[in-house]
Amino acid sequence: MTDHRALAAGAALFTVSAVYAAQSHAWLPAVGLVHGAGLLAARARRERAAQRCARALAQRAELAARPSPEPPFAPSLFQEVSRGWTELNAACCLHAWLSRGGEHDPAHCRGTAPAT
Ligand SMILES: [Zn+2]
Repeated sequence: MTDHRALAAGAALFTVSAVYAAQSHAWLPAVGLVHGAGLLAARARRERAAQRCARALAQRAELAARPSPEPPFAPSLFQEVSRGWTELNAACCLHAWLSRGGEHDPAHCRGTAPAT
């Protein structure tokens, strides 16, 4: 893989040479130098794209090789949340769930508070 900067520098040098050749009315070398500059510029562009693609593939491979990150919450927290939802769904009303069965919502619940 050729360095794209060297190719771009060559294209610039060919362009400057073509200008000098054109100033000397040497049209055939000027046209040849312009053509060479175009070829070098196109090759530099392709090399730059290939290097960028190789760099992106290397980064993807590096990311794929890394171990997966730890989950943000501990597994016990998931179990606790699941248990809380189960208790909430089993409760007759929100007041009963909040007071662990000690109180009931008198407007919406027919449950009775345990006798103390
Ligand atoms: Zn209730």
